[in-house]
Amino acid sequence: MSAKGQVRVFSDYQRDFVESADVVVVGSGPSGAVVAYELAALGRQVVLLEEGPPFTPDDFELDGAFSMARTMREAGLRTTRGTVIPTMQAIALGGGSLVNSAICVRPPEFVFEGWREHFELRQTGRKELDPHFDAVEAFLGIAPTPDEVQGQRNLLFRDGCDALGIDSEPIARNVKGCRGSGECFTGCRARAKQSMDISYVPAAIRSGAKVLTSVQVQEVRAENGRATGVQGQVVEPFTGRRSHRFRIDARAVVLAAGCMATPVILQKSGNLANRSGQVGQNLQFHPGLAVLGVFPDRVHPGFGATQGYQSLHFLREGFKLETLWAPAAVLAVRFPGFGQDLKRRLADVPYSANWDAIASCHRSLGRVRARRGPSMDPILSWHFHPEDVPTVGRALWEIARIFFAAGARKILPGVHGVAEEMHSLEEAEVLRTRAFKATDFVTASNHAFCSTRMHGDPARGVVDELGRSHDLPNLYVVDTGIFPRCSSVNPMLTAMALAHRSSGVIADQV
Ligand SMILES: Cc1cc2nc3c(=O)[nH]c(=O)nc-3n(C[C@H](O)[C@H](O)[C@H](O)COP(=O)(O)OP(=O)(O)OC[C@H]3O[C@@H](n4cnc5c(N)ncnc54)[C@H](O)[C@@H]3O)c2cc1C
Ligand code: SF4
Repeated sequence: MSAKGQVRVFSDYQRDFVESADVVVVGSGPSGAVVAYELAALGRQVVLLEEGPPFTPDDFELDGAFSMARTMREAGLRTTRGTVIPTMQAIALGGGSLVNSAICVRPPEFVFEGWREHFELRQTGRKELDPHFDAVEAFLGIAPTPDEVQGQRNLLFRDGCDALGIDSEPIARNVKGCRGSGECFTGCRARAKQSMDISYVPAAIRSGAKVLTSVQVQEVRAENGRATGVQGQVVEPFTGRRSHRFRIDARAVVLAAGCMATPVILQKSGNLANRSGQVGQNLQFHPGLAVLGVFPDRVHPGFGATQGYQSLHFLREGFKLETLWAPAAVLAVRFPGFGQDLKRRLADVPYSANWDAIASCHRSLGRVRARRGPSMDPILSWHFHPEDVPTVGRALWEIARIFFAAGARKILPGVHGVAEEMHSLEEAEVLRTRAFKATDFVTASNHAFCSTRMHGDPARGVVDELGRSHDLPNLYVVDTGIFPRCSSVNPMLTAMALAHRSSGVIADQV
């Protein structure tokens, strides 16, 4: 079932408007959608606000650049200052879940131990969160990817890991009836991916929630130390043109606008909820890099779950390995050369697989700042800490090993200062021995966190571990911004589990 037709869209707004609710939720990504459904199911009046439009399969564009221009903020070209790291953040009903690969992983307990130890948290471990992980996984039907839809480019990763004695496993995903089309990035035309717009959001609507799209929240309103609601403007999809004004009065405000938008909303609300000075600070990423491997026989990479296999073997060392696919034009930007040279390399695509690493780099920090003027786009800065750089180099070497163990005839490491192509593990040895600089890597990251972090000490965090603002008793933040440090694994499931837990706390208050 599509949410289109059940939600208010741009053409429905004819004038300024004011509404009221028990709870207003800002942002319909994985975090906001869970809260909206859970609270509506508990009988609370919920209004869910989303700046992006709803999409149906007819709206999806297979062309990667065209798709990014429609579904991503800043047309998918958002980057940080400082160390440049491109980062894609969605603008759509369903947020990142519309375009992500549906990877769902529970972080192991050692990740939460680190959170508790450094951020004065008491109730945030696997024991406390497992019931919330269970609830979300059951709701979305999360299950390991079956072999039938893995395709060669995923299974070769498994084979390479097996040959080296490296643990690997099929990735658990929020999909039902995946056909292995590898199109998760441009939107699942089969509607197999259980993105929020076809799962939690329709469920919230069935439980009585109102869902308004094309509405940009610009300010949280507050009076006498309490949040009283939000206000903003209607925005036209794809152009961002602003029109009517709106205000939603509510007994509780939940910010789930994503870790790059929530701090901007708070900063534009007179620096609200920021007695700690931590709003917009501590931005972290999982810097990721991909290596292309070319095999002697056709791999047919167009078939297979977008990301079907992973290895958590090196998680304690600071990185996770995965298989990867995206539209060929998006992957092609990683090919060296141009003209005839580039054309020759592109002929390798049917024989190739892409595998990536995401690194836990919690020493590498950045900031999210609001711009002057009306724009809600953030100014982002981030610095790759020199002590985090070797982790990425180490991950690169392990991917190279797995490729050659799986039978690749060459790899393209995509790193500055080494050969563009390597034809054997011996040639790749330089990846193990070289002292890389941050600028040698072509990293990107769509996993971002910590910009409104939780901390047991109100002087050092924006919210407590249940997502409650330390400053305003009825203001909550539930997006990935509240992670105190990175999750080491793909963040969506953790964000949903935390949001599920916060829902119970919010329900007790309203
Ligand atoms: C291409 C891609 C692939 C990824 N793959 C995976 C994966 O497989 N597994 C995984 O775990 N993670 C993955 N991620 C990351 C994951 O999608 C995000 O971590 C997750 O979506 C974050 O959820 P969220 O609810 O915090 O924020 P978001 O999903 O960003 O949702 C925030 C929502 O708030 C809306 N919003 C923002 N500002 C306003 C405003 N002012 N007014 C109203 N609405 C507003 C946004 O439009 C957006 O819809 C991927 C991300 C991308 C981009
Ligand atoms: S691989 Fe294809 S069918 Fe499977 S969830 Fe992704 S887009 Fe949908």
